[in-house]
Amino acid sequence: MTQTDRINLLNLERQAMEAWFQDLGEKPFHARQVLKWIHQHQVTDFDAMTNLSKTLRSRLKEQAEVRVPSIICDQCSKDGTRKWLLELNCGNQIETVYIPEPERGTLCVSSQVGCSLACTFCSTAQQGFNRNLSVAEIIGQLWVATKELPDDQPITNIVLMGMGEPLTNFDNVVAATNIMLDDLAYSRSKYRVTISTAGIVPAIDRLREVSDVSLAVSLHAPTDELRNQLMPVNKKYPIAELLAACKRYVAGEKRRRVTFEYVMLDGINDSDQQARQLVRLMQGVPAKINLIPFNPFPGSDYRRSPQQRIDAFRAILSASGLTTVTRKTRGEDIDAACGQLVGRVQDRSRRQAKQEINQVAGGRQ
Ligand code: SAH
Repeated sequence: MTQTDRINLLNLERQAMEAWFQDLGEKPFHARQVLKWIHQHQVTDFDAMTNLSKTLRSRLKEQAEVRVPSIICDQCSKDGTRKWLLELNCGNQIETVYIPEPERGTLCVSSQVGCSLACTFCSTAQQGFNRNLSVAEIIGQLWVATKELPDDQPITNIVLMGMGEPLTNFDNVVAATNIMLDDLAYSRSKYRVTISTAGIVPAIDRLREVSDVSLAVSLHAPTDELRNQLMPVNKKYPIAELLAACKRYVAGEKRRRVTFEYVMLDGINDSDQQARQLVRLMQGVPAKINLIPFNPFPGSDYRRSPQQRIDAFRAILSASGLTTVTRKTRGEDIDAACGQLVGRVQDRSRRQAKQEINQVAGGRQ
């Protein structure tokens, strides 16, 4: 059996792995053992899974593998932020970032190679889109970081805020977050695993049905007119519909709030008046606001709001009773800050578009 014929067990959450063992004619409880080996001990070699019988181990070697993403580059910022460039297939690469803070350590995980949403202030968007990450490629980022980080740098929080739009890779993202929450794997609390979305309304409703993870929403503008310009996805799912979905997401769960991310763009969305509009918008929404100073990247025309402006904007929100924090910019020197992740993306969307244009042009000749 060639490597590609073997099933990659990193792709399977608990239920799927139990079903796979059953199909193999083996006891489903082996899934529990294997999950622990893979995700709690970072073991990929079946021979090292010593509580499995020799016969089972050799069957596993024949039928399966545990294939983790390989590290191309491992960079550490002077502020301690660490960034891994991971190799996938066909030359595609993605980035994963670890941000240590005194009280916590956050891992920022990617969900797609590139992104299709075309937000104007985000460098991932400039790359175009190649494909969704598999479950193995999403959970593999946590696997790699867990293995690489020293014991005094624990991962306490996981955020799907890397490259890509998690909710347009719905099934794989949900399966990967299920593995993050699973006691047999990473046993994270639902309050410490966060999916961040640009606002795919039907997917927020679907997520509510199948998952308990925390939700963050990239808002970035207090009016549809401005949000349409910054985030084309708003034309499909405008602010009122988005906020209604957010309220449904947290309905009945008094402890939970939605985090709204708001990137601070100089002269675009950072005026006092816009802060007051945002306050009005948030009335009745269980919300926390996360102001993100804009991180520039090559080719971007936007500028970061000056610190004084960010402070004044924040003061208006706080005075209205909204919990508001300004996200500290981390890892800038290694291009690891929000919106700076690029990896290497073989852009299919644009290449395909170009090919189509060429074909049309060719047809006319
Ligand atoms: N697609 C998802 C998650 C990825 S981006 C989403 O839109 O939420 C994670 C966060 O970084 C988002 O809030 C995004 O809007 C923000 N971001 C993107 N580009 C940025 C930049 N250049 N500077 C600061 N924040 C940025």
